[in-house]
Amino acid sequence: MNIILLGPPGAGKGTQAKRLQDAHGSVQLSTGDMLRAEVSAGTPLGMEAKKIMDAGQFVSDAIIVGMIANRIDQPDCQNGFILDGFPRTTAQAEALDAMLTEKALRLDAVVEMVVDEDALVQRITGRYSCASCGAGYHDVFKPTRLPGVCDACGSRDLTRRTDDTVSTVTKRLNVYREQTAPILPYYAAKGILHKVDGMEEIDEVTRQIEAVLAEVRGVPA
Ligand code: AMP
Repeated sequence: MNIILLGPPGAGKGTQAKRLQDAHGSVQLSTGDMLRAEVSAGTPLGMEAKKIMDAGQFVSDAIIVGMIANRIDQPDCQNGFILDGFPRTTAQAEALDAMLTEKALRLDAVVEMVVDEDALVQRITGRYSCASCGAGYHDVFKPTRLPGVCDACGSRDLTRRTDDTVSTVTKRLNVYREQTAPILPYYAAKGILHKVDGMEEIDEVTRQIEAVLAEVRGVPA
């Protein structure tokens, strides 16, 4: 299946996309992760994108749409993909539609992760992850068992995103409200928008998303 996870920064899109990827063999396509890979590799795109990301702004639609178009053509996407962090503007949503039509692909569902904005700053500013295996943690909600050591792979290379500061998060939430939330009615009008409660425990959110996907596939959850 081809799906979009939509919701503000900190809603848990990345966490849930990884779980769906493991469960279904579909591929997580995170534009944020793709940009961070460019930043780590020190490419010209990465150097330009870092300034924009640290300011809490959006990288240009043309760059983002080009990255996704190339990625969707890779063979591993044939089992389906989970878009995480894309589309984020109405122009990106329209470009995605055009791209899918051209590739004879279709979008099966858009899952909105509904969250209480007041909780997001605490969620985001406390998160960190393992640079080796990507496992995600949180200072309060999900610390590593041993301080400074990844539970999953034992690496000591734990990192925080440079845009997960209070001031940048506040800007990212404003940008979400102004530029991304308006695409929800676009998908509602197509009849493919579903909501899950992103404030629930991680397992419960996964269960709700799986129930939506089962309903879309027409099989009992
Ligand atoms: P994320 O990891 O999804 O929170 O994305 C981190 C940052 O990458 C965002 O705050 C933007 O600066 C940039 N970014 C990621 N995806 C997009 C997108 N679809 N459109 C524009 N900028 C994006």
